[in-house]
Amino acid sequence: SPSRSSVIIIGAGVSGISAAKVLAENGVEDILILEASDRIGGRIRKENFAGVSVELGAGWIAGVGGKESNPVWELANESGLRTCFSDYSNARYNIYDRRSDVNLSSYYSGKIFPSGLAADSYKKAVDSAIRQLRIQEAEFRGSDVFKATEPPSTPETPIELAIDFILHDFEMAEVEPISTYVDFGEREFLVADERGYEHLLYKMAQDFLFTSGGKILDTRLQLNKVVRELRHSRNGVTVITEDGSVYDANYVILSVSIGVLQSDLISFSPPLPRWKTEAIQQCDVIVYTKIFLKFPYKFWPCGPGKEFFIYAHERRGYYTFWQHMENAYPGSNILVVTLTNGESKRVEAQSDEDTLKEAMEVLRDMFGPNIPGATNILVPRWYNNRFQRGSYSNYPLITTDQDFHDIKAPVGRIFFTGEHTSERFSGYVHGGYLAGIDTGKAIVEEMGKDRERKSENQTFL
Ligand code: FAD
Repeated sequence: SPSRSSVIIIGAGVSGISAAKVLAENGVEDILILEASDRIGGRIRKENFAGVSVELGAGWIAGVGGKESNPVWELANESGLRTCFSDYSNARYNIYDRRSDVNLSSYYSGKIFPSGLAADSYKKAVDSAIRQLRIQEAEFRGSDVFKATEPPSTPETPIELAIDFILHDFEMAEVEPISTYVDFGEREFLVADERGYEHLLYKMAQDFLFTSGGKILDTRLQLNKVVRELRHSRNGVTVITEDGSVYDANYVILSVSIGVLQSDLISFSPPLPRWKTEAIQQCDVIVYTKIFLKFPYKFWPCGPGKEFFIYAHERRGYYTFWQHMENAYPGSNILVVTLTNGESKRVEAQSDEDTLKEAMEVLRDMFGPNIPGATNILVPRWYNNRFQRGSYSNYPLITTDQDFHDIKAPVGRIFFTGEHTSERFSGYVHGGYLAGIDTGKAIVEEMGKDRERKSENQTFL
């Protein structure tokens, strides 16, 4: 039929856009991008909050300054994206103690744990996490070498719980090498640009889609198209969207998140094979929530080493990790608190008013009763978004090559891409970007083979 495309790309996040760009560069022009939401970018998303561009999704370019160059850092430099250096390794020295016996003589500096005490607890937590990992690895190999060693300690006090939380949710690189930092370097830069992180995606899209006045007007990008069904055979794929539209293609690139693949949003006929669905279920999804709070003036310390601070509470992960935005946007008077997993889901399910109350109580505990109330709050809901179902993939520490292979492997004419298909950089923007390039190339190669097969058939028939 005339509406048949060579390739349909489902999802216009960084991986979908980079895959489409590779196709276009290789002369595959009859593509169609179907995006469920009303915008491109996916988990790269800025929003205006009290006059400032804040990033609800990806905020950092992670992995800069190493032996290899991070491709996303290159894109950022080419397009003049404004960034600022950001170092959360200082956070451990800014842990607020909530013991009521501590003298509250100075609200401004709060009641920070002595740095020696914090450093000791930190070292203990790292050692314990490394031991835990070694035990897991030994168990996986069926060896009991580590059984005799001292078991990892369980965090109990508020400071131990706080450190355990930042170690596992933010600084895992201290425990095991993470490819992003090994390959690209240990520095991280916070995107601080009014145009948002997503500006990089518009720049990429401009190279192959028709744009005018800063808007993408190309009909090969269709927004608000929620894909619900993929019917596939050896001859092609039929894509059916929620509004009843039907599209045909020779190939499909599916870039939706692992959370969406685990949900029942998209059905496949015939169903995906077992090895595929099992690999999809293997992968965990992290929920990571940045809550933004705007104040009439700032009451927290600024200056070197103060960008991040920690709240120690008897409940692990309870409003633990705080950041001020003065480096990115001086005078913005915005604080960001990050919640993960269970706490994220809890807060997503309650009203923003309740969340504001909780956050203010925590801040008063750290800075005293006289601080001003927040005037605005923004709570992203990545978990309840049916086009996301979480923030990013998290492979169990021990994942086999086969698991990775199966997550990524095509099923017939359906190719899989996205952050979660990047073996080295899953969970990151550059992971999504590189995965898209990989998948784009794989399709180009496959189309070449298709052509060869056809011309051979013609010769021999
Ligand atoms: P996505 O961006 O999710 O793109 C998939 C697209 O598919 C989406 O646009 C979605 O709307 C669409 N879609 C879903 N279902 C359908 C359907 N049925 N039909 C059609 N379209 C559909 N990375 C970093 O490098 N640094 C960070 O600091 C960082 N922080 C993060 C913080 C948060 C809160 C989150 C959520 C993520 C963060 N990440 C970070 C991870 C990074 O954002 C992702 O790895 C990356 O953006 C994923 O890109 P993707 O193309 O794989 O997926």
